Amino acid sequence: MKIGLLASNPELPSNQRILEAGEERGHRIRFYDIRQCYIKLDAEQPEIHYRGGQLLNKLDAVIPRIRPDLTYYGCAVVRQFENLGIFSLNSANAISHSRDKLFCLQHFLTQGIPIPTTGLADSPLETEELIEMVNGAPLLVKLLEGPERRGVVLAESRNAGESLITAFRSLQANLLVQEFIKEADGKSLRLLVVDNKVVCAVERQAAPGQFRSNKTIGGAISATRISAEERKLAIKAVKSLDLKVAGVDMLRSRRGPLLIEVTSSPALDDLESVVGKDLAGNLISTVEKKLGWKRKLASPVST
Ligand code: ADP
Repeated sequence: MKIGLLASNPELPSNQRILEAGEERGHRIRFYDIRQCYIKLDAEQPEIHYRGGQLLNKLDAVIPRIRPDLTYYGCAVVRQFENLGIFSLNSANAISHSRDKLFCLQHFLTQGIPIPTTGLADSPLETEELIEMVNGAPLLVKLLEGPERRGVVLAESRNAGESLITAFRSLQANLLVQEFIKEADGKSLRLLVVDNKVVCAVERQAAPGQFRSNKTIGGAISATRISAEERKLAIKAVKSLDLKVAGVDMLRSRRGPLLIEVTSSPALDDLESVVGKDLAGNLISTVEKKLGWKRKLASPVST
């Protein structure tokens, strides 16, 4: 098959792994920089071009790995591929929905997927009540900025929480106030879901004195066993967002697993090195399955 990896940095280890996995399985896979793709919207001759004029209309499938700050243009490019009948491993709609963190939290609740209690307000008058809503301090203030989360801050006391919320508000920032799950103890689960199956589960542990486990500098990552409930929730969340590939982050709380984030371009290399599995190969085999591609078997050796 002719597969395009649509991303920004060919040197990124996850992208390297996808290119390798595609080649190992006998495909012609090429890296395409999203910003170097340009599109022609036309009823008769819709097209996608690549830097220098190369036409990409003949690809069989694309694997999009869109950086958060390129969501808008990246999704337009992916949509154009889809409109030309070219299969995209994650669809443009699913990617753009998953990038809206507030939408996702609201959506998970409609699906019966538990999240940490979260407050949101527009008026600066409601700061105290917001803090009350999430059961007081300690609490987290999460900044929402378009498709990208711009930071998570822990407020250890009610006073610190109030000052933080007021300060961020004065900068016109959109923010969430969230219950801090103390008992998670700086750990979180990252589950990789591919084609409605959990293909890998790891536990990430924040560096000593930190609470953010996904910034692994000084932290640790290890393979872990997950419960049937955790597996079920991850699959449900990813399926409900209509993603074929996603990373799901969860916290283990006293009241069970709580979902905090679903990401449509999960890193693969660090997970592969922990669990020793060919996860990039899972992405390629999902494309093969979707397009009904069968690997040619070597002809039997006559004796
Ligand atoms: P970002 O996507 O900006 O990194 P996250 O919401 O994924 O922000 O949070 C970063 C890390 O902070 C998570 O990996 C987790 O370890 C920790 N964390 C996030 N939300 C909570 C919470 N409600 N309670 C405790 N820890 C949390």
